[in-house]
Order: sequence, then C-alpha cells, then structure tokens
Amino acid sequence: MWGIGKMALEIIRIPVLSDNYVWMAHEPVSGETMVVDPAVADAVLAEADSRGWTITQIWNTHWHPDHTGGNADIKAATGCTITGPAGEAERIPTLDRTVSEGDTVALGGLTAHVLDVPAHTAGHIAFHLPEAATAFTGDTLFAMGCGRLFEGDAAQMYAAMRKFEAMPDETAVYCAHEYTLSNGRYAVVAEPDNAALAARMVEVEAARAAGEATVPTSIGLEKATNPFLRAISVEQLAERRAAKDSFKG
Ligand code: ZN
Ligand code: FE
Repeated sequence: MWGIGKMALEIIRIPVLSDNYVWMAHEPVSGETMVVDPAVADAVLAEADSRGWTITQIWNTHWHPDHTGGNADIKAATGCTITGPAGEAERIPTLDRTVSEGDTVALGGLTAHVLDVPAHTAGHIAFHLPEAATAFTGDTLFAMGCGRLFEGDAAQMYAAMRKFEAMPDETAVYCAHEYTLSNGRYAVVAEPDNAALAARMVEVEAARAAGEATVPTSIGLEKATNPFLRAISVEQLAERRAAKDSFKG
C-alpha cells in the first residue's frame, strides 16, 4: 500500500439455504466477478444477471456441500474458473486450480493471499485481500464464533486464530453463515465481564429482530468480542469449543 487507500471491490451478500451467505465480489476495473462458496447456483446466477455481471471465478474455502453445491452449474453457465483447497481436491471434483498457503489468486488487479486454516475441515483455506482490507473466512472464523472441529483439532483452530489476529483491525471479515446470535449467546457466558461483547450483543439482538444481517464483521471487532479468537491457550479454546457444542442458548 502506498497511501492510496482501499482499492475498490463491490461485495454483495446473497443469503441462501437456512443460514448461508454466498459473497459475490465485483472488481470494477477488470470487470471480474467472483463468488465465494456458492452453496447453490440459481440465486447466485440471478444476482449476477440482475447487475449485468458475468461470474469469472469461484473460490471455495472447503469441500462441504453448502459451500460447493453451486460450482458445477455456475461453471456450466459461465465458464468460470474454480479455485479451492489443495488439501481437499479429491473432494471437490469441479476445481480447476488448487491452492494452499503461500499461493496467491488474482481478482482483476487485486491479489488474494491464501491461508491454510484447517480444523473445521482438514484442508480449509481462507482468502485475504490486504489491498481491499477484506478476508473470506468460510466456516473457520465467524462473528463471535469459530467453526466446529469436524476434521481437525483445537490446536489447529488456535493456530488459525493467530493468522486472523495478525490481520489489520479494519479488515472486513466475510464468513459463510449467519450464526452470530447463537454464537453471541454462548460468548457472553464464556466472557461475562466483557463489556464490548455485552454491547455488541445488544446491537446483534436488535439487528436480528429486524431481520438484518450481522456480517461482515471485522478483525478488530472479533479481537474484542470473539471468545475463540480471544482464547489464551489451546486448552481454553478446546474447552470453549466443547462448551459451545453442547450449549443450549
Ligand atoms: Zn462447513
Ligand atoms: Fe458451512
């Protein structure tokens, strides 16, 4: 960065299934349009059509069907290129390019850096676009939460949290689910003395009552309120994850 500020990237939220968000990012200089984790095809294609955009890329964070289910039909309709985790290539047969930490993916003039953040799934990746102050975190970092440990362990999730923590506070975090209210109800139990968390929950309760989305969030907000990003050890993260798994809020 040379003081030119955030580069333009228009990001659209497409709510699908019960609580998934598909993110559509349009880079206006090149005209490229990318979708992250398309659970379905029709709603995504319709959204692009309504804006006069053509989808040129899909980025997948992990193999789960609610993140890849639209891949084949969107590709058939647009001829887009699909990029996803090298560690899950055999589980995502629609991939054109496989990537892992250290790789970059171009979106027009913007560069996304790939991070390996396994834990929810064995090969889960995230995409960080520092020039746009944007991160796509899939099912690893959520607003006030983290993904369930289906294929990995707490040590891996703790390591993943350190990678998110290292991003600038102003980084916008685009996660793949609207889990904020449920996450927050557990978070206030985990950290009952956290004033920033209590204040955030007031806002989240109001937003959800009004039917509004609560994401994107930001790295700074998560550093202040997310009990998994804030866990001080692998053991504490493991305890909190187990407690959340059985939490009835
Ligand atoms: Zn998932
Ligand atoms: Fe998911």
